[in-house]
Amino acid sequence: MLDNPPLTNLQTRDIESLLHPYTPIHQLKSTGTVVMGRGKGVYVYDTQGRGYIEGMSGLWCAGLGFGDEEMIEAAIEQMRTLPYYHIFGAKSSEPAIELAEKLKEIAPVPISKVFFTSSGSEANDTQVKLAWYMNNAMGRPNKKKIISRIKAYHGVTVMAASLTGLPSNHNGWDLPVDRVLHTDCPHHYRFGIEGESEAEFTARMAKSLRDLIEREGPDTIAAMIAEPVMGAGGVVIPPKGYYEAIQAVLAEHDIMLIADEVITGFGRTGNWWGSQTLNMRPKTISAAKQLTSAYAPLGAVMVPEDVYQAYVDHSATLGTFAHGFTYGGHPLSCALGVKAIEIYQRRDIIGHVRRLMPVFERRMKKIGEHPLVGEARYCGLVGAAELVADKASKRSFDPRNGVGPKASKLIEENGAILRALGDTIAICPPMIISEAELNELFDRFETGLDQAEAWVSTGALR
Ligand code: PMP
Repeated sequence: MLDNPPLTNLQTRDIESLLHPYTPIHQLKSTGTVVMGRGKGVYVYDTQGRGYIEGMSGLWCAGLGFGDEEMIEAAIEQMRTLPYYHIFGAKSSEPAIELAEKLKEIAPVPISKVFFTSSGSEANDTQVKLAWYMNNAMGRPNKKKIISRIKAYHGVTVMAASLTGLPSNHNGWDLPVDRVLHTDCPHHYRFGIEGESEAEFTARMAKSLRDLIEREGPDTIAAMIAEPVMGAGGVVIPPKGYYEAIQAVLAEHDIMLIADEVITGFGRTGNWWGSQTLNMRPKTISAAKQLTSAYAPLGAVMVPEDVYQAYVDHSATLGTFAHGFTYGGHPLSCALGVKAIEIYQRRDIIGHVRRLMPVFERRMKKIGEHPLVGEARYCGLVGAAELVADKASKRSFDPRNGVGPKASKLIEENGAILRALGDTIAICPPMIISEAELNELFDRFETGLDQAEAWVSTGALR
């Protein structure tokens, strides 16, 4: 096994022409890139002919896997009929209308209107702008701050990156902007105090939120945004009762809850929505990713009736609703959204996820027993293994050792793509994965972890 084989022509052209997101770009020349050529089912194949089980659904999005013929047909048909139109200035298109209706039908809370964006970041930016606009309309110009959480991930546009609670999204970027507050991350394993039960931890999270709100002044805070299960921050599943506890605090102060369901929507946690799995009752929801199963870019903001009515009532004073994206409501994306939801329903994808969940759980528990793994956590078909230097004390590795990236590289060499979030290895397979493929994915995961452990025990770490 060569550590750094010579780069192929495509890899060289890639490195010379692309600025890669979320990549240690200073190392690219020596590590090279994996240039993906094609995909079918849960497998992707690189241009050198190697096949991988895509254990992350790309970026937590390709729930129906790759090359679904029905999705391809729906795309071709829409391209032939109307490849583009917008929904600005009282124009519309049938796929946008149909998808908005479908989303209203399956939303876990009452929704009046759907606003389309091209991405999750834009959906979350829109949420913030809608909250500000609404409070201006309602004569509450000071009620503007947004609470997010440490380790949250809400995207990378200026406001979404500000809401994100990860240092690498702030350091060097002049972020977060003001009006953004971060409260505690509800990760008991990492942030629980020695001997603190989950119930005590949850009560402390709620108290800390209340303290923050009282310190800042409830009249200055518009909303709190939360992923039901935190994704890119390390797949953090809050303890039982967490959302009930924080929702009670928010309700006391008239602060609305925005659920960022960009990862957790459309069956990922074993229900249509993560909000249902986690007992969350949001006022409004952001969706993207599995909305089209990543066959085309699309995000959505679900707007409740009273929020919508506030804009309507005040449109005479605030003027036209001046917000919208050129590709928001793109007919191709919306047609694929309609088709994806129809497939989720007709093929009972959520039932399939539920049938696989016991297998996923059993295999994650086994991963949790691995000497390198401090905690294995999971919810539905999304999970993560946090790698630690010492299981008993939960001591982390020095991040400079890059143990997580090394482990994910080794897993990749075994034919499975998982994602290192620091030293936490995330797993989020396409929801259509078969039981045999899921077991194969975990076998490759385990082999990679064994090799990572062997590498760690050579003692070369800091
Ligand atoms: N919210 C969550 C929960 C996400 O996981 C992501 C993307 N990983 C985003 C927002 C941002 O979505 P996008 O990359 O489409 O802007």
